[in-house]
Amino acid sequence: TIGLCALDKNGNLAAGCTTSGLAWKLPGRVGDSPIVGSGLYVDNELGAAAATGDGDEIMKVCLSYRAVMLLERGYTAQQACEEALRYLLRKRPPETCRPYGAALIALRKDGDCGAAATRTGFQAPDRLWIWAIASTEHPEGLLQEG
Ligand code: ASP
Repeated sequence: TIGLCALDKNGNLAAGCTTSGLAWKLPGRVGDSPIVGSGLYVDNELGAAAATGDGDEIMKVCLSYRAVMLLERGYTAQQACEEALRYLLRKRPPETCRPYGAALIALRKDGDCGAAATRTGFQAPDRLWIWAIASTEHPEGLLQEG
């Protein structure tokens, strides 16, 4: 899955998600990625989030929605990603559920961003790119890479 969150120069937020789904999925399986609230969520007043990982578990806790709701409570984007994933692990413990895990990215309305994963090995949060596209303030594009 590739998830992205974007904030334009007018302060509007967006999120996107694309995936091939899980390997060996049943024919017809949809997964979390296209489900608003699960694979991605945006509240233009608060922030945006996108998820990757075990979509069948992600959907059960509306993971991206939860991350954005934590932004509403004043969490930083990093805290919101971590806390939403802690909630997933509490509700769907890997010992009793499928252990594949999940990862989240989030972007707050003020530009603060974060990423977290339930385990190492998820590629998306290993590298977090913050781009300013078509921005006169940042003509170089890439603002930060972490
Ligand atoms: N979340 C996707 C799904 O369950 C898979 C992935 O992130 O790689 O369909």
